[in-house]
Amino acid sequence: MKIIVDRGRCTGIGICESVAPDHFEVDGDGALHLLVAEPDEADAALLGEAVRSCPALALSIENGT
Ligand code: SF4
Repeated sequence: MKIIVDRGRCTGIGICESVAPDHFEVDGDGALHLLVAEPDEADAALLGEAVRSCPALALSIENGT
């Protein structure tokens, strides 16, 4: 699975980081970094929560085959 960030929507508030700090990091400039290139399926529930928590609707999950 992959996390997709719509950079045009992301405002760098960092709620995703507070939900899943091992996967998301907002730097001092408010830029979001994805820390895990291809997250494990075991983290699907946590990442789904992070996606739903984003107030800017900037996150989505792409499921690989
Ligand atoms: S919660 Fe949404 S808007 Fe905030 S940093 Fe994460 S992706 Fe960006």
